[in-house]
Amino acid sequence: MTALKSIFADHGDPYMPFPANTPTVDDLPGLDAGLAQRMSDRGVRILRATDAGELLPRVAANRDFFECRFCPWAERCWGLPT
Ligand code: SF4
Repeated sequence: MTALKSIFADHGDPYMPFPANTPTVDDLPGLDAGLAQRMSDRGVRILRATDAGELLPRVAANRDFFECRFCPWAERCWGLPT
């Protein structure tokens, strides 16, 4: 989680502020800390790959996959070369 917070801080993203009083996993009873860490690690990998200019694989092989049909980024995503 710390790595993800520092990446957002480095990018100055105003939509993802992590103020000093951000709750930790200890403050959130019932939170699956292992799952939270895995999702945080996944986010870090995505952001680092994006910074490196890597084009990550799509979630589907075809544009008509149901998630892509409702995705607001579909036009851009499927317009990029593979
Ligand atoms: S269209 Fe959206 S959901 Fe589908 S692969 Fe691209 S980014 Fe992912």
